[in-house]
Amino acid sequence: IKQILLAARPKGLPVASNFETVDAILPELQEDEVMVKPLYFSVDPYMRGRMNDAKSYIPPFQVGEPIESTGVAEVTNSKSALFKAGDKVMGNPFLPWATAAIFPAAHLRKIDDSIPLTYYLGVLGVPGLTAYFGLADIGKPQAGETVVVSGAAGAVGIAVGQIAKIMGCRAVGIAGGAEKVKMLTDTFGFDAAIDYKGNTNMDAAIAAACPNGVDIYFDNVGGDISDAVIKHLNFFARVPLCGQIALYNSTEVPVGPRIQPIMVTRSILMQGFTIGNYSSRFGEGFKQLSEWVKAGKIKYTETVEEGFDRLPTALLGLFSGRNSGKMVVKV
Ligand code: NDP
Repeated sequence: IKQILLAARPKGLPVASNFETVDAILPELQEDEVMVKPLYFSVDPYMRGRMNDAKSYIPPFQVGEPIESTGVAEVTNSKSALFKAGDKVMGNPFLPWATAAIFPAAHLRKIDDSIPLTYYLGVLGVPGLTAYFGLADIGKPQAGETVVVSGAAGAVGIAVGQIAKIMGCRAVGIAGGAEKVKMLTDTFGFDAAIDYKGNTNMDAAIAAACPNGVDIYFDNVGGDISDAVIKHLNFFARVPLCGQIALYNSTEVPVGPRIQPIMVTRSILMQGFTIGNYSSRFGEGFKQLSEWVKAGKIKYTETVEEGFDRLPTALLGLFSGRNSGKMVVKV
């Protein structure tokens, strides 16, 4: 089998030499173990943080060990009564970057393959749940309010905008490139979308897209984009801090405007979260998102990189906006 290891910790933006593909041999399958062949891997921005040796909510990848991410796999061989060949499964929670792997049965959970398998990595998986709980629980949207989301054309952002619309809000997306902003308004029902790459005056663009100011800012990117949005927050605005992808490759502590005076004088709530905080409510989130998807109220799109070897390229592509919607790798 093939495995992809973390070869060296990156400084700044990761490069190809941070990864190494190696051949490996699997041991013999033991009682209560299951052998799987991954079909799709997810690549996600938070994985950049796991490449650093830093304290976080999740342990770092180890140099010389396989990288891991969420993924969907097929059982190829089973010595567990719980699984049979052909079953579709997910890791609990991760799969190593390998063309095959062996797990104790307890490490796997079966999934229903009447749903497209990549949905478990996107709209019905972590990104969808993140959009739902971050917006509903921290954003607390009220009909008629204006919701701005950055990273809007990505896996989380596309869901945030559509859920905002379901909740009766005005949805404004910020994304990179003319094609992405057109997709947001024309395909995904956003009321307005701003191309930050083609824009020298974000301040004016936000003012024009949000004539009543911003009640909820769902922040996926941080940096200059967030600095521009924060000036337009209304009294009692809520800011779910979901991600800061613009800063993940920073080599120094990023500095920006001191926003606390705005927060104080406008009584703004800003709250960071990780989706693990909501693990006891995943069932509720999955059910709600599934209903919306089935009813056509949430549409889905993805960028599929083909081939196991493309995993590093796909991961790095998140930092240059290679993807529209969820980025996945088909093994
Ligand atoms: P996306 O599908 O949104 O992919 C990343 C996107 O980020 C790219 O397509 C790109 O879009 C944009 N981007 C990359 N670099 C920059 C930059 N310097 N400035 C602005 N935009 C940039 O990823 P996800 O939807 O999976 O994740 C979105 C955010 O949510 C990330 O910050 C992630 O860490 C966070 N997250 C947080 C979770 C939590 O539990 N809190 C769970 C899941 C995700 P463009 O072309 O528009 O620039």
